[in-house]
Amino acid sequence: PYVVTEACIGVLDKACTKVCPVDCLYEGGRMMYINADECVDCGACEPVCPMEAIYYEDDLPDDMQVYREAGIAFFEKI
Ligand code: SF4
Repeated sequence: PYVVTEACIGVLDKACTKVCPVDCLYEGGRMMYINADECVDCGACEPVCPMEAIYYEDDLPDDMQVYREAGIAFFEKI
């Protein structure tokens, strides 16, 4: 799946939600989260994010790995 990272915090532009074919981007207070179980890896959200906050999980920079974990934790809670 794809992962939303730090640059989304406090921005929540939501351009991603308009292009996602499976509606798997959810607002989680300060940022958006991608539900890893629902994401179909289409890649549509990555180029439309004005903050360039979205990465394919294998391309996540080391200092953004925490957002992968944060996303998993977010969906475990709801
Ligand atoms: Fe949605 Fe595609 Fe982005 Fe996954 S990669 S969150 S399915 S737009």
